[in-house]
Amino acid sequence: PFEVLIIGGGPAGAASAVYTARKGFRTGIAAERFGGQLQDTLGIENLPGTSYTEGPKLSDDLKKQVAANEIDLMDLARATQLKPAGEAGGMHEVTMANGAVLRARSLILSTGARWRNLGVPGEAEYRNKGVAYCPHCDGPLFKGKRIAVIGGGNSGVEAAIDLAKIVGHVTLIEFDEKLRADEVLQRKLRSLSNVEIIISGQTTEITGDGTRVSGLVVKDRESGDERRIELEGVFVQIGLVPNTEWLADSGIELSQYGEIIVDASGATNLPGIYAAGDATTVKDKQIVVAMGTGATAGLGAFDYLIRNEPV
Ligand code: FAD
Repeated sequence: PFEVLIIGGGPAGAASAVYTARKGFRTGIAAERFGGQLQDTLGIENLPGTSYTEGPKLSDDLKKQVAANEIDLMDLARATQLKPAGEAGGMHEVTMANGAVLRARSLILSTGARWRNLGVPGEAEYRNKGVAYCPHCDGPLFKGKRIAVIGGGNSGVEAAIDLAKIVGHVTLIEFDEKLRADEVLQRKLRSLSNVEIIISGQTTEITGDGTRVSGLVVKDRESGDERRIELEGVFVQIGLVPNTEWLADSGIELSQYGEIIVDASGATNLPGIYAAGDATTVKDKQIVVAMGTGATAGLGAFDYLIRNEPV
């Protein structure tokens, strides 16, 4: 059994593991895919201290650091169920997809999240070639260009306001007949001169020239008319889904969006179980934040272990 078992091997889980291993605790990581979202990321330019890196390179660097710290890494290992310890100091049990059961005195849950996809032709083909999901990350790549933001909820409208400062023109496309963002954001959006808002618009296709995005097709859901918009970028902002379905019957408290509810020390509602990164209620879903909350959760688990004798 482990003293600390980390479920998820993205930047959050890797950071937690380095912290608990360096405290001398027997630490394991079980990850469906080590590196997590980093494996799908090209350029990273907002990680302080690292002017430029690429997702797979950062993932390799984290893997090397994990290997240098006596951490038992189980890659391609998906957790399907969590059974919390009955009492403080007891053993938690995590069942894996292959039927194995891993036991640990403390757990750190860092299973991350996934962007909800539009699911239209061209989206997968042009991902990272004009199709983007993170305005904080990729906004500057579209300086002066024409882009669309898909989604008129808070994240879509915030993204449009943010991007309008950098890009040449923004078309915001909402599927519903009205925007769902807070009124104050909508007012700000409408005041911008380089933004067009389309409502009742269904994006049916993202088109490209074989290497990069060149436009999209949007269908008016009332008239059925289709319109082609020429542009260089598409930001899909229709939701970030936490990978927490496997915790459904565990007793871990989740928010209405399925995020693991954590306090300032990364503690969940259950003793000895901590969480970090995009899977949690932490406000910003970014690498530096995932790493920071991972460190906090690791130190939280450390506090718990030194205060609770094994039972
Ligand atoms: P993740 O990276 O999602 O890792 C989750 C881990 O948990 C993975 O190992 C996964 O396989 C594993 N897992 C999931 N479910 C299970 C399960 N049931 N059992 C076991 N393991 C499981 N952020 C930036 O700061 N800068 C950027 O430039 C940037 N660019 C991005 C570009 C793209 C295309 C994407 C998708 C994201 C980008 N982000 C960027 C966001 C950043 O990648 C995330 O905030 C960060 O990876 C979150 O780290 P995490 O460890 O919480 O989760």
